Amino acid sequence: MTRKLAVFRLIHETNSFSVDPGTRERFQECEWGHGPAAGEEHRGTETEIAAVFDFLDVHKDWEASFFRMASANPCGDIPEDFFAEIRDELMADLAGHAWDGIFLSLHGAATMEGGRSSELELVRAIRSAFPEVPLAVTMDLHANIAPELIGLVDISVGYKTHPHVDMRVVGAASLRHLLAMVRGDIRPTHAIAKLPLLLPSVNMRTTEDGPMHDVVAQAQLRAVQEGALDITVYGGFPYGDCTMAGACVTVLTDNDQPLADRLAEEIGQVLWDHRRRFFLEMPPMADVLDTLSDDTAFPIAIVDNADNPGSGGGGDTPGQLRSLLAAELPWKAAFCFLHDPQLVQIARQAGIGATIQARMGGQKTLAYGAPVEAEVEVVKLIDDCTYNNSGPQNHGLVTHHGPTAVLRKGNVSVVVTSICQGVSDPEFYAMHDISFDDTRILAAKAKNHFRAAMAPVFGRIVSIDEPGPAAYDFTRLPFRHVPRELYKDVDIGR
Ligand SMILES: [Zn+2]
Repeated sequence: MTRKLAVFRLIHETNSFSVDPGTRERFQECEWGHGPAAGEEHRGTETEIAAVFDFLDVHKDWEASFFRMASANPCGDIPEDFFAEIRDELMADLAGHAWDGIFLSLHGAATMEGGRSSELELVRAIRSAFPEVPLAVTMDLHANIAPELIGLVDISVGYKTHPHVDMRVVGAASLRHLLAMVRGDIRPTHAIAKLPLLLPSVNMRTTEDGPMHDVVAQAQLRAVQEGALDITVYGGFPYGDCTMAGACVTVLTDNDQPLADRLAEEIGQVLWDHRRRFFLEMPPMADVLDTLSDDTAFPIAIVDNADNPGSGGGGDTPGQLRSLLAAELPWKAAFCFLHDPQLVQIARQAGIGATIQARMGGQKTLAYGAPVEAEVEVVKLIDDCTYNNSGPQNHGLVTHHGPTAVLRKGNVSVVVTSICQGVSDPEFYAMHDISFDDTRILAAKAKNHFRAAMAPVFGRIVSIDEPGPAAYDFTRLPFRHVPRELYKDVDIGR
């Protein structure tokens, strides 16, 4: 007998302070496919959907239907009507079939108007139509999880790594539990401990000594000791202004609700006890530039977290670039990047070698500062900056930046792109002729994902905080749905 698996993917991390809403166009820039070909894109990559192909390779009695495959670079809330379209399409796709399992690759921080969770509303819709079908989900470590969601799904497994290099493994774990449930080998029981805690992600990496590394290690140890199917520690995403904001711990057990409840409580307490370690001193750009000298261990990367596209930054805040140009440093430097399709067009019309008067940054909003005005030379134009990721995160996946331009002012090269996409892969730099053999300073709009592929290149990576939609200092952000209690007690290092 052939078993039938329905597969759906919605990856969106909402920054509610972004000026770009999470519209269809934002998904089309990144991933917006439907059907078998859209699923095929993932085969052999390091994503959750790749795990479905791995699963099918082993379990020949299963077949999968791939429905909407959607992911966007982090940006604003998903508009109501667009979400309704995604939900209705999925419900129509699912209707009229006898599914043995439903697998959802979700982010967990896709917020809608009113601070609502789109994942929760999707799962509610699926559950009301298919109350008995085993339902498994995967989520990002930065999910903002509504406790109700954990009660509605049978299986949830989240990333254990940050930068996220275990998406495929997490997909495999979720599918394995789903299979065991379908076979009647396990009866999943689920618990969540939700903490009143908004955490910054700057010190949330699991690759080195740090609080998240320690809490996740403890969770993994306890899962093995107690025989839990999964324990995931979710750091949450602080820029999603939503009613389900905050860190949490989820536990999945086999037919043992008291164990799930007890472990969730226990690891939740461990995370709570480590909470102050997530906060660091975050200087502005100018202060870091002041410390540089010929003795600095170059090349150095200075990353502005507040406009990191991976956190919903729009690639448009001017603070870091203004400080870099004003410093007139004696070393070769690169600034990556500005998202400004119009400026790319101006550069293309002018042509290589031309000098143009550029207004850089501050094009989408003046909230984070006025544009930087400078006379720059057009030194490189790329018609379509597209490549397969060569770094460990999303390895193999195609990444698009659209037409791009490199503008030069003195010894600073400024890369301008047409798509707001993170600059965390070595291919991006190679395509723009930026070599860290001679470029001493990289100023980037980036945060943790950058480190997955780029850390080996740099002597040091320094995080800074400038005005922006993903500001480190939460008290600067105009929250409407996140209660002040979630961040009132934390020492923000200022
Ligand atoms: Zn994440």
